Amino acid sequence: MGTDRDLFLRQQIIDTAQALAENGLSPGLSGNVSARVSDGLLITPSAMAYDALLPEDIVFVRTDGTVPDGQRKPSTETPFHAAIYAAFPEACAVVHCHSPKATALACLRKPLPAFHYMVSAAGGEDIRVADYHTPGTDALAAAAVSALEGRKACLLANHGQVAFGASLEAAFALALEVETLAAMFLDASASGEPQILSSAEMADVLALFKTYRQP
Ligand code: ZN
Repeated sequence: MGTDRDLFLRQQIIDTAQALAENGLSPGLSGNVSARVSDGLLITPSAMAYDALLPEDIVFVRTDGTVPDGQRKPSTETPFHAAIYAAFPEACAVVHCHSPKATALACLRKPLPAFHYMVSAAGGEDIRVADYHTPGTDALAAAAVSALEGRKACLLANHGQVAFGASLEAAFALALEVETLAAMFLDASASGEPQILSSAEMADVLALFKTYRQP
C-alpha cells in the first residue's frame, strides 16, 4: 500500500472520481471508483468529497477483504467492486454512480432494451437491472455480478449503475454511455414507444465492435 507502484493508479482513480462529479454523474457524495492491483484493489474512501482527495486517501483492500491499518475507511460499496474483480478477470477498473437518468430507470426497475445500437457498448443486446438489496451487502454484490453476466455494465434497482472496463478510462466512458442511453430511452419513451432492434441487428453491431474496438 502507498507504494510508488500504485501512485499513478491512485491519482488516476482520483481523476476519474472528479470526472464523474464534473459530468454530473455523482450527485452529492455518491459514487465510488476502484482499480484492480495484483494483491487486491484500490478504492475511493467512504464519504469524502472528490475534490479534496489526495493519493494517500485512496484505500488498499486485500483480495481477502481485509484492510491494512492506518488507512481511511474504504467505500461502503467495496463488496461489489471486489465481487466484480473476482467474477470477471477482464475487469481492471470499476465505476459506480447514482447518475440521475440511469438511476431514474433503475427506480422503475426497467432494463435498457436494444432501442439504440450503442446499448451493445455494454457487451450485449440489453443492459439489465440487478435486484434491489441493501447497499454495501454481499447480497447486492451477488445480484450485481448476476446482472453483469456477459455484460460490462448494469443498473442497480432503486440505487444507480455500475460499469467496469479494462482501464479506468474505459469504465468511466461506459458509465457515461449508460447515463446518455438512459436519458435517450426516457426521452423516447415519454414521446411514444421506442422501436427495438432485433437480435440479428444487435449481433451485427456486436460483431463490428469486436472487430474494431479493443476491450
Ligand atoms: Zn451507491
